Amino acid sequence: MTEGGPVTEGSTATEGSTAAGSGAGPGIDGFRTPRATCLLAPNPSPMTLDGTNTWLIAEPGSSSVVVVDPGPEGEEHLRRVHAEAVTGDRRVAKILLTHGHSDHSAGAARLAELTGAPVQAADPAHRLGSEGLADGDVVTAAGCELRVMAAPGHSADSVCLLLAADGALFTGDTVLGRGTTVIGTDGNLGDYLRTLGQLRELTEARGVGLLLPGHGPMLSDPLGTLDYYLSHREERLDQVRSALAAGAKTPAEIVAMIYTDVDKSLWPAAEWSVRAQLDYLASREP
Ligand SMILES: [Zn+2]
Repeated sequence: MTEGGPVTEGSTATEGSTAAGSGAGPGIDGFRTPRATCLLAPNPSPMTLDGTNTWLIAEPGSSSVVVVDPGPEGEEHLRRVHAEAVTGDRRVAKILLTHGHSDHSAGAARLAELTGAPVQAADPAHRLGSEGLADGDVVTAAGCELRVMAAPGHSADSVCLLLAADGALFTGDTVLGRGTTVIGTDGNLGDYLRTLGQLRELTEARGVGLLLPGHGPMLSDPLGTLDYYLSHREERLDQVRSALAAGAKTPAEIVAMIYTDVDKSLWPAAEWSVRAQLDYLASREP
C-alpha cells in the first residue's frame, strides 16, 4: 500500500509525489534475478503503483517453484502465474504471503486450487495448510532457502523474505519500488521504524544488494533506499509537530498543511498515516 490513494481495508498504499498515480518506472514485469522472476498483476492504481508484483522463486533446474504474493483475485493473472510456474514440468511447492492485504493475498486460494500448493502466511487467517511464516523461519523449497524476517509496521502481519543466494530481499509493502509506504489501519509507526532499522542491519550483515518490492521496480541501492525511508519518516514527524504547533487540530487539517506535495486523491490515505504519526507522537511525547 502506498501512502497516497484511498486506503481501503486490505489494500496496498504509497506515500510521496513520485508515487502519485502515473508514470510507471522501469518495467518490473519479467524482471529476473538468477532465482526469482516477477510477474506483474494487472491491478495498477495510485495505491498499488504499476500493480502487484508476484514473484516465482526456484533454483535453476529445480523440479519445483515457490510463489510469493499471488496478487488479487483475477483469473487471467493467476492462470499466467500457474502456467509460468509449471513450465518444464515443475510443480508449485509453496505459496507464501508477505502480508494479508487483499492485493497480495486474495488470489491465493484460487492459485492453491490450481496448483495444490499450501499457503503460508504470518497471519493464521490467511494460511491454507498447517505451516505459518514466523520470524527466523527458514523456508526450504525449490532448491532455495528463504529466511523469514518479521517486519511489522505497514501491517501487523508483514514479513520480509531473504533469498541470500541472490543477495535479494523480498520486501512486500514494507519498502516499495517508488515513493514510500503507508502505515495501514492495521499498522504501527513505532514498529515500522524499528523494522526499517532491522532491515538496514540485515542489509549490511548479509550483503543484500537488491530489494524486490511488492509494487514498483526493483531497488539496487538498499542502504540508500532505507536511509531515505528513515529520513522521510523523521521529516514527516517534524512536519506533524510543526502543524500541531501551528494550531492544526484534526488529521485532515494536518494533511492539508503538510501533504501539499502529494496528489489530493491520496489525501484520504495520508490521513491514515497522520493518525499513525499522532499515535506515535502521543506514545513518545505525552
Ligand atoms: Zn499492503
